[in-house]
Amino acid sequence: MAQLLDGKETAREIREELKTRCAVLKGKGVTPGLAVVLVGNDPASAIYVGQKEKACGDVGFSSFRYALPASATEKELLDLIGQLNADTRIHGILVQLPLPKGLSVDRVIGRIDPGKDVDGFHPLNAGRLACGLPGIVPCTPKGVMRILERYAIPLEGRNAVVVGRSNIVGKPMAHLLLGANMTVTICHSRTPDLGAETRRADLIIVAAGRPGIVDGSMVKEGAVVVDVGIHRTAEGIVGDVKFEDVAEKASWITPVPGGVGPLTIAMLLENTLELAERAGRKE
Ligand code: NAP
Repeated sequence: MAQLLDGKETAREIREELKTRCAVLKGKGVTPGLAVVLVGNDPASAIYVGQKEKACGDVGFSSFRYALPASATEKELLDLIGQLNADTRIHGILVQLPLPKGLSVDRVIGRIDPGKDVDGFHPLNAGRLACGLPGIVPCTPKGVMRILERYAIPLEGRNAVVVGRSNIVGKPMAHLLLGANMTVTICHSRTPDLGAETRRADLIIVAAGRPGIVDGSMVKEGAVVVDVGIHRTAEGIVGDVKFEDVAEKASWITPVPGGVGPLTIAMLLENTLELAERAGRKE
């Protein structure tokens, strides 16, 4: 039976460290500031934004919410980002995705100053990660690396399979695992036999957005399984992995909820703090 990779506890420890670093920075006259931009009225997005604001307050950061109606034009949104780029109280800018139809995610993300790109989605930061250069790393894959480190999961020389190739999770995840000297396979919706790929893996990261897509028959005995998926169902929140089934085979597994979710928020705070520390050094 698998042991749990406890994201909630790991995130709590990280937040404690961040509180201390935040206090040091405040002593130098800099309060980390995160701007959260919410466009439209997607209920899940409103919940995520609320959680991020609360997390900021808990560690001593300032957060600034900018809510635009679903009818906002792309120019209005780009102008707002331009103002936030110039605002010295703000060290990180987060545009909550998905955006309403008609707004280009690429143009909006591209408008964020790469030095305030707290999500690490700007092509410059994505490119730095792909080149193995230091930069701001997307929160969810960064959080996955942190929990693997916390539980001393061996990575070097082993086989990893990442299910999903989004710019937000799958691709940056694969780059980070490559950077940790794993042999990495990326699977996606056109992969003909997903089970054949996952069964070869020592580490499986599932970020497909498909509830229960990975079951016990697709997992090698003793593999480590990280479930990034989040789905709100009548039975509660579930992931992309059939937890009970997979836990019979895996050596370690993340629960949903209480796995990757809390780490994503902790990494958002860490990225905000890093950007504020950088800005503090420039002043
Ligand atoms: P996304 O943009 O929808 O990407 C999903 C990826 O999975 C795509 O690359 C897609 O392939 C692939 N895929 C879909 N069906 C597949 C299948 N049957 N077999 C293999 N691959 C398949 O989603 P995302 O933004 O990366 O998020 C993935 C999941 O993680 C979602 O449930 C999301 O809610 C969750 N999430 C959680 C957190 C957290 O904090 N825990 C953060 C971000 C996201 P194609 O490219 O071929 O379409």
